[in-house]
Amino acid sequence: MTDQVQPATHAIRERLEAVRARMAEAATRAGRDPQDVRLIAVSKTKPAEAVAAALQAGQTAFGENRVQEAAAKFPPLRARAPSVRLHLIGGLQTNKAREAVRIADMIHTLDRERLAAALAAAIEQEGRRPELLVEVNTGHEPQKAGIAPDEADAFIDRCRGRFGALLVGLMCIPPHDQDPRPHFDWLAAAAARHGLAELSMGMSSDFEAAIERGATMVRVGTAIFGGR
Ligand SMILES: *Cc1c(COP(=O)(O)O)cnc(C)c1O
Repeated sequence: MTDQVQPATHAIRERLEAVRARMAEAATRAGRDPQDVRLIAVSKTKPAEAVAAALQAGQTAFGENRVQEAAAKFPPLRARAPSVRLHLIGGLQTNKAREAVRIADMIHTLDRERLAAALAAAIEQEGRRPELLVEVNTGHEPQKAGIAPDEADAFIDRCRGRFGALLVGLMCIPPHDQDPRPHFDWLAAAAARHGLAELSMGMSSDFEAAIERGATMVRVGTAIFGGR
């Protein structure tokens, strides 16, 4: 549901600052450089004014789930603010691959051969080269997107072959009723095995644990923009 209420710019700025402070503390606790963890502000269902408010507060990386919503919201914002970076973090239908490649700077949800083929064709057609992450369904949840953990190594190898340096890392969404830390550890180990630098893991409820487990990108919505 789109939030029709005029977003409170001040509240968004304060929540962003609070999230950034908690991120820095988590990184420091883990002996990591806070600069090595990027905040992706997840603006799905929120109006462009909310994104603009976050942008004013210095936030440039945004996450959206749905290609159509992102395609309506982001090109006008980017025309005004070229530093805006759009991350697509939702399950991606093959028939949306071309539009996704047209608008995204990073796609976090590469999870099957047919999508890999569609993205490769779209990259060729559009002449745009968004970075890619393989999404792994670390919790083996049947309703969830992501490649199965026991198929992940082979799939990552094939994506490497197909996309080369455009494949930069891995992403997961742990089951919400479980301790996320074993899932984060699994993903970090897989990324290390494959020499992939980026780990997209952690949301409003668990981004500090994710940073302590090696996240390089956290995807935070509610803690910045309020409930959906
Ligand atoms: C919505 C969403 C988020 C953000 O979730 P919050 O709990 O609001 O922080 C992160 N990642 C994905 C894939 C999402 O769909």
